[in-house]
Amino acid sequence: MHLEGSIPVEALFALVKKHDRLDEAPTIEHVRKRYEFDDFSHFLEVYKWTVSFLKTADDYEFVAYEVAKTLVAQNVLFAEIMVGLGNSVAIGKHDPVEIVRAAWRGFKAAEVQHGIKIRIQIATGRDHGAEFSLARLKDIEPLLNEVDICAFNMGGSEHVHPLPQFKAVFKRAHDMGLRVSVHAGEVSGPQDIYDALDLNPQRIGHGIRAALDPTLMDELKQRDIALEVCPVSNECTGAVNRLADHPLPRLLAAGVPLTLSSDDPAMFHTSVTREYEVAHEVLGVPTRKLIKVAREGFKRGFMDETLRTELLAKFDSEARKWCDTRRITYPE
Ligand SMILES: [Zn+2]
Repeated sequence: MHLEGSIPVEALFALVKKHDRLDEAPTIEHVRKRYEFDDFSHFLEVYKWTVSFLKTADDYEFVAYEVAKTLVAQNVLFAEIMVGLGNSVAIGKHDPVEIVRAAWRGFKAAEVQHGIKIRIQIATGRDHGAEFSLARLKDIEPLLNEVDICAFNMGGSEHVHPLPQFKAVFKRAHDMGLRVSVHAGEVSGPQDIYDALDLNPQRIGHGIRAALDPTLMDELKQRDIALEVCPVSNECTGAVNRLADHPLPRLLAAGVPLTLSSDDPAMFHTSVTREYEVAHEVLGVPTRKLIKVAREGFKRGFMDETLRTELLAKFDSEARKWCDTRRITYPE
């Protein structure tokens, strides 16, 4: 999930007041209304508006903690949260090192108080170009021993900026020892996902257009690369016309490895819990299959093996109890 798209309305309204911008959103209801948008470009506009309230390191620390609390409330054990160095750095002229450090303080505070484990993904956008991303990777390099940065990620306008121009960026991320996920095939066709595969990612964000190409689905399976699927986001941005037409069931049937994620939950009025509900209630994915998808989340998570074993055991024990009370055989 993206930090900037996950800020609860209450927290954003606190920042509206703090920065004396009540003329733009006099009440919390106005903030809530802002989180409604008509299409993808309107969404990007709202996104930038939200980021404009992140003016100081303290603001980043505050929202990081508030976002973590929304996950704790859902019994989430582990999350990877993207800290965007695209809009924030470009608009506010923030120091990337300060942003990442501040977000990390917020996540750490949540871990100390609630036990949740959070890792940071550094994210940039295609729109800012390759040089910009290379510069941001250089900026954060000194932080690698200090902050648990688990991966590099890139989002942005995939139909305008094809991935091959970012090869050097992803090579640099790999050379720095970072794992890699990249948004691809969310709105553009399968070629964008083939291009993503050339960058040797461990996972691909969205990647739902793979469902149009059986050879590609096979390749994802063979190369064991998981898609991070976010159904509600896809409906909100118009990447799919209707939630009911979402390709999640087709991807699962083809055996493509995947996880369920919430992307920008505050803006899309969703949560990771809601994504599972939608998968079950709207898309008809059976409970046992969804338990397997949840387990994939831990298996594919960018964490060390000790933590993975610990969290999977915790998840299995809770999920098994849940299944027992419903007379569902726990999937092995
Ligand atoms: Zn995303």
